[in-house]
Amino acid sequence: MGYRKEEAASLFHNLPGSDSDKIAFLPFVHGSRCFCILRMVYENRRHMRFQTQFLLSAVNAAHFPTPTVPEIAFLGRSNVGKSSLLNALVGEKAAKVSQTPGRTRAINFFQLSDEKRRPRLILSDLPGYGYAKISKSISAEWPKFIEPYLAERETLRLSICLVDLNIPPQASDGKLVEWLRHLGREFLVVATKADRLSGNARTRNLAAIRSAFGLEEALPVSAKTGAGIKELWTRIEAVHQPQLQ
Ligand code: GDP
Repeated sequence: MGYRKEEAASLFHNLPGSDSDKIAFLPFVHGSRCFCILRMVYENRRHMRFQTQFLLSAVNAAHFPTPTVPEIAFLGRSNVGKSSLLNALVGEKAAKVSQTPGRTRAINFFQLSDEKRRPRLILSDLPGYGYAKISKSISAEWPKFIEPYLAERETLRLSICLVDLNIPPQASDGKLVEWLRHLGREFLVVATKADRLSGNARTRNLAAIRSAFGLEEALPVSAKTGAGIKELWTRIEAVHQPQLQ
């Protein structure tokens, strides 16, 4: 007996333990039934041909790593699912670091290296912005080092803005998008927790996000089922590809 891909992903997500423990022990616990779960995990991880290494946490611009390889920033309100998405993209280490007390108010930098251990990309995980705090402008509320990072960081190639697909478009997210647009920074809006909605509601909410933020596209993703993760990798790889030649 097999599972549908989304059921398998959900089952895997809800099991306790690290991904590597699950892969090691599932065959003993569930026998051949777990085969499709492992295949699903493998398919998603195929895109993870990078080794991820935590570089540092920065609380001021002097701490930023030397700009070398292209950087991709991850931004979103607290609880939007940023740690879960980072986990789905590059593994548990990144999500754990990003949720460590003290590092939640910092920019956490992760370096992705290829098979030959050459650094290829840096992912920067920015502090989640709060619910009530954002009243005037995002840049005024954020610690001073975040604004210069987004505005001036020369190697920043793409900002991935996470918005929750399950709630109406938020003014704070709109301000961030507006600000990045004003800076002329390339950005991609990613709509999280897409698994929580059925087809119609998903389409409706995506349209609401596009319309509220003046976007041509918003990419729906689910860290829980893996939906959209491949597409997101494709977008990330498109950014770093020119540097490989
Ligand atoms: P962060 O504060 O932005 O890092 O958010 P987390 O990754 O810690 O997630 C916040 C909450 O949303 C947690 O309860 C997660 O289990 C839940 N969550 C995150 N991603 C998903 C998803 O893709 N689907 C569902 N259903 N829940 C999610």
